[in-house]
Order: sequence, then C-alpha cells, then structure tokens
Amino acid sequence: MTNEIDVIIIGAGVVGLVVAAEVSRANKNVFVFEKNRTFGLETSSRSSEVIHAGMYYPADSLKAKFCVQGNSLLYAFCEKYNIDHKRLGKTYRRGRRE
Ligand SMILES: Cc1cc2nc3c(=O)[nH]c(=O)nc-3n(C[C@H](O)[C@H](O)[C@H](O)COP(=O)(O)OP(=O)(O)OC[C@H]3O[C@@H](n4cnc5c(N)ncnc54)[C@H](O)[C@@H]3O)c2cc1C
Repeated sequence: MTNEIDVIIIGAGVVGLVVAAEVSRANKNVFVFEKNRTFGLETSSRSSEVIHAGMYYPADSLKAKFCVQGNSLLYAFCEKYNIDHKRLGKTYRRGRRE
C-alpha cells in the first residue's frame, strides 16, 4: 500500500466508480472508500435497468442535456465492452411511465 494519495472518492456506487475510472486515467493513486463490505450495495443495486432518454426532464435543463449525452455514451460503452443490453424503444401505458 502506498502512502501517496492523489484522489479519494467516497462511495462505490455507480457514480463513485465511474468517477474513479475517469480520474484514474490522469492520476496514479486513486482510492475509493466504501462504508459497506463491497461496491454497489445501495441505490445502484436498485436500478430498474432502464437507459433513460431524458424526455421527462425540463427542456434545456442540465438534467435533460446530460441524460441525452449519457444515453448515447452508455450504448457506446456497452457495445465497446460487449455488455449485453437491449434497445427496447419507448413504450407508454396509460397512467404509467416506463
Ligand atoms: C428503485 C430505483 C430504480 C432506479 N432505476 C433506474 C434506472 O432504471 N435507470 C437509471 O439510470 N437510474 C435508475 N435509478 C437511479 C440510480 O439508481 C441512481 O441515480 C444511482 O444508482 C445513484 O448512484 P450513486 O453512486 O450516486 O449512489 P449509490 O449507489 O447510493 O452509491 C453511494 C455509495 O456511497 C456509499 N457511502 C455513502 N456515504 C458514505 C460514507 N460516509 N463513507 C463511505 N461510503 C459511503 C454508500 O454505501 C453507497 O455505496 C433508480 C433508483 C431507484 C431508487
């Protein structure tokens, strides 16, 4: 174990892990601290597995912008690393968002 730390990230959910992957490109000693025994045991393990399209967010909001950007980045990531996924399109049932 090294005594030198470049970056510490608190929390090994999907956000902490993706930030760690990104910052470790430019930094050697990146540490992720997680309070649980392993990664992804909190909100990130409750996902409904939907790759959102951003259509419910206010137009021109950062949430809509990043969601649309993240949508295509996520499909590209899945294809690059052969991660199983489906492009199911959007379905809508009265009174229910999917
Ligand atoms: C029911 C449900 C369904 C969802 N479905 C979808 C979906 O289909 N598609 C989608 O894109 N999003 C979905 N989401 C949203 C998505 O799951 C979250 O936005 C995402 O998982 C948040 O990730 P996170 O890393 O920010 O949080 P978390 O996964 O909660 O990670 C935070 C981590 O930090 C750790 N932590 C907290 N405090 C400390 C501390 N002091 N020290 C050390 N570690 C700490 C926690 O233990 C945890 O592991 C859904 C959410 C819910 C609740």
